[in-house]
Amino acid sequence: MTVNSGDKNNWREKYLNALDEQEQLEKQFASQQELLRSALVRLSIAADGQDETLDQIMAKLREQLRSKMSATEFNSILAQLETAALAFEQNREQGAQDIRQAIMDAAKPLQHFKLSRGVKKELSDYLAQLPQRSKKVRLYPALLQQLAKIQQQALGEIEQPKTGLFDKILGSKTNPKIADAGDEQDEYAIADLPPMIDSPSASVEPIVSHLTEEYSAQIIRVLNQFFTSLENETAIKNKVEVMRRKLEQGVSVDSLVPLLDSVRDLVMEAYLAANQAFATYLKNVNQELAEIYMLLGGAVKNTQDERAASRKLQDDVMREMNDLEVTATSATDINQLKDTVKSQLGNIRQVIDHYQQTDQAQQFLAEQLQTLGAKIKTMEVEAEKNRTTLEAHRQKALHDPLTELPNREAYNERASAEVQRWQRYGRPLTIAIFDIDHFKRINDTYGHQAGDRVIKVIGRSIAKRLREVDFFCRYGGEEFVALMPETDSATALTVLEKVRDAIANAAFNYKEQPMSITLSVGLTEFKTNDSLESAFERADQALYTAKSNGRNRCQLS
Ligand code: GH3
Ligand code: MG
Ligand code: MG
Repeated sequence: MTVNSGDKNNWREKYLNALDEQEQLEKQFASQQELLRSALVRLSIAADGQDETLDQIMAKLREQLRSKMSATEFNSILAQLETAALAFEQNREQGAQDIRQAIMDAAKPLQHFKLSRGVKKELSDYLAQLPQRSKKVRLYPALLQQLAKIQQQALGEIEQPKTGLFDKILGSKTNPKIADAGDEQDEYAIADLPPMIDSPSASVEPIVSHLTEEYSAQIIRVLNQFFTSLENETAIKNKVEVMRRKLEQGVSVDSLVPLLDSVRDLVMEAYLAANQAFATYLKNVNQELAEIYMLLGGAVKNTQDERAASRKLQDDVMREMNDLEVTATSATDINQLKDTVKSQLGNIRQVIDHYQQTDQAQQFLAEQLQTLGAKIKTMEVEAEKNRTTLEAHRQKALHDPLTELPNREAYNERASAEVQRWQRYGRPLTIAIFDIDHFKRINDTYGHQAGDRVIKVIGRSIAKRLREVDFFCRYGGEEFVALMPETDSATALTVLEKVRDAIANAAFNYKEQPMSITLSVGLTEFKTNDSLESAFERADQALYTAKSNGRNRCQLS
């Protein structure tokens, strides 16, 4: 029996076609690997700058990826990345604990002072709630704000010259009797109220210098600890340094409250900057993850296609080989044919061996890719969840907890956007500053809690009377600021007069007693060459004029 030359050409063609197909698939596979590699490089670049160790490992990953690493090296770097990411999270937690401790250190010493019941209670409530509330980093600005307020109240009481408390608390323990009397004071009974803080007091000046060395050293120590815990926050590094230098000059009663105010603002700034950077980072990671996931999906599908193709080739070649074997055994008389057949058999075996090997490797790779894909999918979901939570926290951090109005940070963000818009389009923009009249009297007459309630009610009443497009915030204490886009000063004045009038004529009650509350407002329209600061300063001057001219009025500048 002889081998038909038509059959021979047929299997040779099939074999060559199969080889072509294999070559195509290998090319495809190589280009997918290349895509994966470049996606990972981009991902690691996007994640750069979060943490030094992470950065180092990612740099290594990039280097290896560029030099085409093996699967084992890739796995080892992935494992290192996971460990470093975990450590990064733990470091963040440690930083949060340091801040927690610093807040505790700052609040506790106040307990040793003889304070009125109201402030004492506020302080003990604060300390009692601190362990629970300080678990959430986003609450730190509010916690610091409250601490600054308690300190301010405490210092206000300490400053009372008539009680002699100050001397006792801050050093010369000479007058315990009066201190005890102060302790029994009832904050709601008008007759027992301490004199108003702005009442003339000749002895305030000398007392200020009585801040004992021991006490100021303690404050300096606590604040220094606090600054150390803030040092890693690159966004505020310079400001922390400036405050440290200020602190080196020592603290007095006068400088302490503004200092605490700046510390609060600083922490708020750092918190928001970190929060924003992290949210952006997560968003980028998320995009990269989504891309890689899609890529992996394609790769897994393709490697399955490849496996199917390889099996088909194996079957085809097997069939051909059987035919050949039969032919070879029966065609003993044709030596040349025998040789050819033998060498072809050898070749075909080699092809199959090769295919079997690559098939196994591909199966392994496909499994790996599938696992990696699942992991990435989970990370993608997690990253999205974190981003949403962070955005919610950011929104909270931009609101004042008492009035639920936007706070000073929100003002900083919004004001620069409005000023940019005003510079670009030249449409009118008016800024107004509101300050409740004689607020100290309200605090002194009805107590701080009633004062807080007034701030809340007035803030909301004003907000309700402004337009949706106006931005209105609690700027601090009993001061509010409005930014009125597309509004010239004449229109703004009409609107604000109505607001002022409505508040002045509203029937506010405290414990069923009528309470008269009025507002003074300073306003100005942005003018050519104005900056946010210059316009704010002009509105503030106008507010000052409104106060000097008898309060309960709007003053345009
Ligand atoms: P003026 O009419 O000149 O504005 O007099 P005023 O008494 O309102 O004076 P000023 O605006 O300077 O003082 C505001 C006071 O408000 C000082 C501070 O004790 C008090 N205060 C600041 N923040 C708060 C707060 O959050 N709650 C309460 N209850 N009082 C606050
Ligand atoms: Mg004020
Ligand atoms: Mg006021």
